[in-house]
Order: sequence, then C-alpha cells, then structure tokens
Amino acid sequence: MRCILCHTYSFSLICAACRRRLLAPSLSIRIIGDGFKVYSFYNYADAGPLIKTKHTHIGASVYRILAAESFGWFRSDFSFDTPVAVIPVDDRPKSGYAHTAILARALNSGHLRPRYGTLHARSDISYSGKTLAFRQSHPRRFHYTGKGVETAIIVDDIITTGTTILEAKEVLEKAGVTPLFALTLADASQR
Ligand SMILES: [Zn+2]
Repeated sequence: MRCILCHTYSFSLICAACRRRLLAPSLSIRIIGDGFKVYSFYNYADAGPLIKTKHTHIGASVYRILAAESFGWFRSDFSFDTPVAVIPVDDRPKSGYAHTAILARALNSGHLRPRYGTLHARSDISYSGKTLAFRQSHPRRFHYTGKGVETAIIVDDIITTGTTILEAKEVLEKAGVTPLFALTLADASQR
C-alpha cells in the first residue's frame, strides 16, 4: 500500500518516516475548571486531517497509529505506583468502532487499566462547530457505571472548550473517583 501522507510505498497506512516527522508527540497543557489539567499530544492544526478520518473506512486504522505514537509513548514514559483506571469518554461504537476506546487501550499496562464502557453520554447531541454557550446549556449527561475505581485518567480524542471533560470529571467525582488529569490526542482550541 501507499502511505496516506507522502504516498511512498509502505507496510502501514502511515510510513515510518512520516510517523517520525509528523507524529512525534509534544505535550501541551490546558487548565480547565478550577485547576484540572488536560494534556494533549498534538496541535489540532497538525493532527486534525488525520483525526477527521475517524468517520471513514480507514478511521480505526489511523486511530490505532495515532494512539500508538502518542498514548503509547506516554505509557512507556510515565509510571504509576498504584493502579489508575483509564476511562474513555463515551466509548460507544460509532462507524463500527469506539475512537476513545482505541486511545485508552494504548495506555493499557501494569498499573494503567482501561475501564471500557463505564462512562457513557445519555445525550447524543453533537458539539461539532457549536459555541461554548451552546455546549454549556446542552450537557452530555454522562452516566458512570464503573465499580471499585479510586483514581482515574480521563481519555478523549479532542479538547475544544473543555466542557465535555469537565462534565465527565464532575460525574466521576460524584461517584467517588478522583480524576488525576485528562489526556487527549489534540487540542482544538484557537489560541
Ligand atoms: Zn509517509
């Protein structure tokens, strides 16, 4: 096949040279709410075109590559002394797979344990292109069904206004879970 970025022959959808050149993660941080940290691996201007493949037939493969390069790198570089749950935001399959579950799976290791299907939105409303005011007045109404979790990392694909992650954090806290921080593929805020 050919690399979808540079079109040279490659064994993978994205060749090794493009992964090194374009997918080396660089962590940025956003502080939302009253001091909650959200780390993102990519700038949306760079990673956006790849993230937008998520609703196409190559979306799951592209997400696996992005997850390996970013969340996989995080997993190998950071260690935790006690078990920490990895909670993907609303990992219900769309277009045949769950984007956030792929990201959470890339963190799976010793103390980092994905808890799939525990934090689902009861509202299907789309936030794409919507204002902060709209997002705040139309909550996703998350429902948490996990058990026995004390600390967690929240995983989502994109942070825009931070509304979704803050809502997820509050729902987890009400259930007795302490979210340590959130990890997202890309920060789509305009700065
Ligand atoms: Zn390439």
